Parts: sequence; C-alpha cells; structure tokens
Amino acid sequence: MNKLIFLDIDGVCNSTNDHKAIFKLTGKPTFMGPPKLQPGEQFTRENLNWSKRKTEWIHGICSQTGCDIVISSTWRETFPFAHQYIAMFQAYGWPAPVINTTPITGGTRGDDIEAFINQSGFDGNYVIIDDGSDFTAKQKENLVQTDRNVGLTVDDARRAVDILNWEE
Ligand SMILES: [Mg+2]
Repeated sequence: MNKLIFLDIDGVCNSTNDHKAIFKLTGKPTFMGPPKLQPGEQFTRENLNWSKRKTEWIHGICSQTGCDIVISSTWRETFPFAHQYIAMFQAYGWPAPVINTTPITGGTRGDDIEAFINQSGFDGNYVIIDDGSDFTAKQKENLVQTDRNVGLTVDDARRAVDILNWEE
C-alpha cells in the first residue's frame, strides 16, 4: 500500500449527464446514490448505473501506478466493506483493488481521509478523486476534482496518474 486513490462515486463513476441519458433511453428515472438492494440481490450495471468507460479509466490509473483504492464516498454509509466495492467494479468486468473505506468521523470528507491516513500510518502518494472540494489546503494539492455533470474524464485520469507517480 504505497499509492492510494481516495475515491468518490457520485459525480465520478456516474454523472448527471449519464443519468439524463439513461432516462431518455429507458424512460426510467435513475438517481445518484447507492442502490437499495433486495435480500440476496447482487450488484448489476442496472442497479448501479455507473459508466463502464469511467470504470475503465479508473482501471487505467491502477494499472499505470500500481495503486490501491480506498472508498471515501458517502456510499460507505450504506456499503461499508471493501469487498462490496470489488463486487460493484466486477459488475463492470474488473475486480478493482479496493482495500478499505475511510472512517466516518462526523467531520468533513477531508477529516475522514486525514483520519484514515493517521490510523493506517500511510505515507505514500495519494490522489483524491471527488467532485466535491471539502478538503484541507494540503489535500487539495492531491485533488483531482471532477465535474458532477460529466464525471471522471480521461484528462482527470491522466492527472491522477501524474500525481500518483510523482517522485521527489
Ligand atoms: Mg461526489
């Protein structure tokens, strides 16, 4: 664990535009946020409504940097375990190297990431991929802020690789 992505989901793996497109195509309104699963129901592309292309760009970041993923999205209030996110990515054809979720401190998302770093003793390179900006000045040096309407782009992914592969 010497490189990490702190990964948000809404506005990163999905986007407002994708949801509008799904609605136009299917007539079925969809919403950001975690799916409400019935007992025994598996994660599928239909209940997640992520963009496959965006998962491929996250895959690209991981294969070019060897990084692991820690989920910092509010989805962890519903799905707190790493294996649940591995299963979500698997629905898009790739069992992502998700190793953990950040603790819920009751503070900002930046506080949650800070708590994870302090508790784990992590001292490698990290990037925060998030459509929000609720981070400390120091964390913002490692932030790739996505556009909620668009989600993760290939340019965002390139910037994340540069941050993770940066050497002093
Ligand atoms: Mg978000």
